Amino acid sequence: MQVVQYYLDQIVDQSQLNVFLEVFSTEALTKAMELDEQLRTRPDAPRGKLFGVVIGIKDVICYKGHKVRAASKILGDFESVYSATAVERLLAEDAIILGSLNCDEFGMGSTNENSAFGPVRNAYDQTKVPGGSSGGSAVAIQADMCMIALGSDTGGSVRQPASFCDVVGFKPSYGRISRHGLIAYASSFDQIGLLTKSVEDAALSLEIMAGPDAYDATCLQEEPVTYSQLFHPSHSSDKPLKIAYIQQCLDHPGLDPEIRENMRAKIDQLTQAGHKVSAVDFPYMDQIVATYYILTTAEASSNLSRYDGVHFAYRAKDTKNLEEVYTKTRTAGFGMEVKRRIMLGTFVLSAGYFDAYYGQAQKVRRILQTTSDKIYEAHDLIVLPTTTSTAFELGAKQDPVSVYLSDVFTVLANLIGSPAISLPLFKHSNGMPYGLQLLTKRGADAALLSAAHQISSMRV
Ligand code: GLN
Repeated sequence: MQVVQYYLDQIVDQSQLNVFLEVFSTEALTKAMELDEQLRTRPDAPRGKLFGVVIGIKDVICYKGHKVRAASKILGDFESVYSATAVERLLAEDAIILGSLNCDEFGMGSTNENSAFGPVRNAYDQTKVPGGSSGGSAVAIQADMCMIALGSDTGGSVRQPASFCDVVGFKPSYGRISRHGLIAYASSFDQIGLLTKSVEDAALSLEIMAGPDAYDATCLQEEPVTYSQLFHPSHSSDKPLKIAYIQQCLDHPGLDPEIRENMRAKIDQLTQAGHKVSAVDFPYMDQIVATYYILTTAEASSNLSRYDGVHFAYRAKDTKNLEEVYTKTRTAGFGMEVKRRIMLGTFVLSAGYFDAYYGQAQKVRRILQTTSDKIYEAHDLIVLPTTTSTAFELGAKQDPVSVYLSDVFTVLANLIGSPAISLPLFKHSNGMPYGLQLLTKRGADAALLSAAHQISSMRV
């Protein structure tokens, strides 16, 4: 119980960071008391693998009987009628869910400024953004408000805030964790991910949440590995890795020069440590962001059509007919960025433009997949920076396209379904942290976590 109380105090003491949208204080304390009681009265009773572990969940993940709003006004006071499979699996291992975490509305954004409940602030420097869309989840770990935070990653929303906030951000393979109970943004990209203090914490949480689920047909079908055992001395091997780095990423004109330099130094260091590191050619960096935004906005425009004032909580008042129910509800309920994306998605799917945009982007997605498969044939993993810069000032990026372009290093993993992780390995001379990103082929989550563990424990 003291542990839960500690985190509750942390949340109150740092409330200006605007991390939690709701804290389930009474419930979390009650659960903690029950667990304490079990320890006292039945010390030999079996304990879950997450016995007493305190977890925050991004406000796009359903937890039965609790509000879920996707940081949007349109969901009003809607309460989940069932729990996400991921949440059920955590609870079955005796975890304590502490509350829901702020994020960009429907996961759309890279700064957390698109939340209907105000931005989250970076605890390292409160004039800076935490990144997005899982900014609340990243700061919850950065500022020690819970032990593990769930996020979701459609194009970088776990890894980019992890990079800006100096924590581990792990997006498993597409389909590794069931999407049942995750509010949809772009269904062929969305994946629940983790923000943690260490690779070990991410591995243990994955082990519990991963695996097939009858409610999500896109789940990978193999049973999950006991990922937490990967780092056990009897399992872990320090075998040299075949590592690729993408030349075009290092040469990218938008990359902060100091990040470029430190990436080069990291590559040298990996080589000196005995790994085989080589440059690969990936000539699609200019297409990647556009492809991502065409496909995700198309999917979003369809997914978000369900918020019509009829099915869910919020409905505009003073409406004269059904058409007005739809238009007034959606006009008042959605924020600017969400509206922009619904319009963009509707446009790229519209008759006459479909082939030029959506069809073309699907073809590019296929090319990205085959090109990366070739890289994975000869390499164990790809390394690249997680972000082109460190965290920007709140309010600094007004032009949406410049924000979109900053996703250039994270969207690839989602376009090809790869697992990817951001490791908090670097500090910039401006005082802010940034991450090293690793990718492996879809399904190879265990290999990725092993490599991440190996690389993050390298002596510098
Ligand atoms: N920044 C990206 C976007 O706005 C990624 C978001 C996400 O991964 N949910 O689409």
